[in-house]
Amino acid sequence: MFTLPQHHLHQATTIRYRHNRDHRIYCAITTQVKTRPKLEPLVINTTTLATPPKADDPSLKSTWSHRAWVGAGCGTVLASLASSVVGSYDSHIWLEPVLSGFIGYLFADLGSGVYHWGIDNYGDASTPVFGTQIDAFQGHHKWPWTITKRQFANNLHALARVVTYIVLPIDLVFHDQPVVMGFVGMASGCIMFSQQFHAWAHGTKSKLPAVVVALQDAGLPAVVVALQDAGVLVSRSQHAAHHKQPYNNNYCIVSGVWNRFLDDHKVFEALEMVIYFKLGLRPRSWSEPNSDWTEEAEDSPVTYVT
Ligand SMILES: [Zn+2]
Ligand SMILES: [Zn+2]
Repeated sequence: MFTLPQHHLHQATTIRYRHNRDHRIYCAITTQVKTRPKLEPLVINTTTLATPPKADDPSLKSTWSHRAWVGAGCGTVLASLASSVVGSYDSHIWLEPVLSGFIGYLFADLGSGVYHWGIDNYGDASTPVFGTQIDAFQGHHKWPWTITKRQFANNLHALARVVTYIVLPIDLVFHDQPVVMGFVGMASGCIMFSQQFHAWAHGTKSKLPAVVVALQDAGLPAVVVALQDAGVLVSRSQHAAHHKQPYNNNYCIVSGVWNRFLDDHKVFEALEMVIYFKLGLRPRSWSEPNSDWTEEAEDSPVTYVT
């Protein structure tokens, strides 16, 4: 009796040839079939939001808890940047901290794109940890104009909370490392404010003052438009493309500098294929156009339930 080498292709197969007394040969084949991941049926995830919030809706207003978290987040970011400046001054190095800060700014844009892609495409309101953000972003695709009516701390508090939890311990450990602090301060600051940059990208030149009512007298809206036009902040035209079919591009919302590279090289589409074949999860963007993505007019009286 002898055994042929085992082959490990899609199916593990063992073949045994045996000689009997009459020198006749027969084969015994056993097959082990690997269990494939169960693929999701073509069902669109549901959203819990049924109607768009009204302009004076309490869900768009800042609470003292929101303001406290934004204050904690800003304090954490400023502590990082101050540590970087003080450390640079003490050690007489400036180029490296400035460069690491610039890399932090680029990193924040990439991070905002990856995170936005993830919550736009996977999970729903019931997903642990991210459910609220996923629901909010799905609602944003249906009623994008509401972001311009959302108050500042209401819009930023979720990211400010994450920044406080993650960056504060880093500040305590690396406070004497100006290069690390430069990167951390810029990256976390841009990530925390990415929702504000996102809100500005939904303004029009004429409407931008309404977005930042409190600061319009200081000339900030003009500065915002100039920064958008220069590509420092994500532009209104670039982000507008995200809200149009095929709803699978321009995910980055800090500067948008990564959007072209990621979209031209189909990076997210490649990741979606990997996730589908490994885990069987379909991204929402494969199922468009459907009413989850389609924008409703601002004054639409439609009540929508999926
Ligand atoms: Zn989106
Ligand atoms: Zn948007």
